[in-house]
Amino acid sequence: MSRVIPTDNSLDNLTQLFSRRGLIDHLRTSIKRPDNLGIIYINVVGFRHINHIYGHDLADDLLKLFARILKGLVRQKGVLARLAADEFIIAITQVADLHYMSTLVERIDNAFRQPLLCQGESIALQLRFGMSANGAAPFCDDCPIESLLSQASLAAQYARSQDSSEAVLFNLEIERQLSRHSRLRHDLQMAISKQQLYLLYQPIIKTQTGDICGAEALLRWQHPTYGLVPAEETIAIAESSGLIEHLSKWVLANCLSWLRDNESDLPFGFRLGINLSAKLLESANYLAFCIEQISAVPTLGYALEFEITESKNFDNDTRVNDFMNALHALGVVFSLDDFGTGYASFERMQSLDFDAVKLDRSIVHMADQSSAGKHMITAIVALLKPLGMTIVAEGIEGNTQMDTIRRLKCHEAQGFWLYKPMLAGEFHALICQQTS
Ligand code: C2E
Ligand code: MG
Ligand code: MG
Repeated sequence: MSRVIPTDNSLDNLTQLFSRRGLIDHLRTSIKRPDNLGIIYINVVGFRHINHIYGHDLADDLLKLFARILKGLVRQKGVLARLAADEFIIAITQVADLHYMSTLVERIDNAFRQPLLCQGESIALQLRFGMSANGAAPFCDDCPIESLLSQASLAAQYARSQDSSEAVLFNLEIERQLSRHSRLRHDLQMAISKQQLYLLYQPIIKTQTGDICGAEALLRWQHPTYGLVPAEETIAIAESSGLIEHLSKWVLANCLSWLRDNESDLPFGFRLGINLSAKLLESANYLAFCIEQISAVPTLGYALEFEITESKNFDNDTRVNDFMNALHALGVVFSLDDFGTGYASFERMQSLDFDAVKLDRSIVHMADQSSAGKHMITAIVALLKPLGMTIVAEGIEGNTQMDTIRRLKCHEAQGFWLYKPMLAGEFHALICQQTS
């Protein structure tokens, strides 16, 4: 096996590991075919923040320490490289079977579970792993090494997008999903001006009378290639690409314009629910926009409701309270959406001034399940009742669920069994039918 004499750009100055160029040159000369080659791609999540918080000097030392520990773990079994600040590669040239690669990843993951001590600071690193190997997916025959490197990088990108600490092995489905994601991310910029976005309105009824008392506005994106993009995917893309504020302003403006146009036909006390990304609760800019828009026609504030799903972004109660207080003053009410899933907590409910709570459909569906499920939903409603909030049951899909919700005296209900989300014009016609 001939040895590559490292030239200046074949080594990473900081860690003395191979650079990308150096790694490719080394692999080209040291292996005949990539049949035995496996790539593990390691991404240090949020390294930019470490740089920002602790400064470049410490961050550099941390990277050197990281590389040293990695070397100790990999030993002679693989070749190490650093491709960018926070991207490392292990090329396995001897025993590139997937079992070996997964075991190595596990060992690395375990080793970095403890924070690293660097310049007196204790710093926890979060790693994401992507893997590629011959046989896992076809690669380009002309440049098999580059091909495997980029496949492992895509797999790590996918692990990051899924927030998964498990190593992801590249396959063609991952490539398809990532390419859809980046296309959507790119296209969302123009979706508003190209009029590909619109809102559907799903009626909400009073449980005791069956009358429509409100609606929830639900975002839809008709993409020219991919068709209808699910709302949750659109919102996730908007949040991760910094477009959520722009998008949410568009939603609010549309809802206000619908309310303005139809105000005279709406039943007394009507509320239109707008889903609000928790990220925006801390945006002074978005709050100012809400105040300006809602104040333009003061009666409209009383027809608006913001639905907020508790999330990990939702952690500054003082700011959230300020946001809620400013809009409460204009007549707007707030509901805690998807109650009973993930982050819902009674502590939050106590500290924040919610006017309504929307029981997630997973709770509502307990009505159809075991007697334990029925007891659970009864207990949840009993617990919420004394808090004085309006209780809305979401996702009603059948008779039994509706009967239970009525018996438990939940105030309002929403679901496909009652009404599916519909176009603005259809919803207006439905309301007129009810009030005539
Ligand atoms: P959500 O706020 O909980 O909205 C209710 C979701 O449940 C909607 O899904 C609705 O179509 C669906 N749904 C209603 N009744 C039933 C039922 O009986 N059965 C079932 N299986 N589903 C039912 P959609 O429209 O796909 O929206 C999903 C989520 O996306 C929403 O959940 C909300 O969190 C988010 N979202 C939608 N529009 C917007 C928006 O304009 N802004 C923000 N930030 N989020 C939005
Ligand atoms: Mg909602
Ligand atoms: Mg919900």
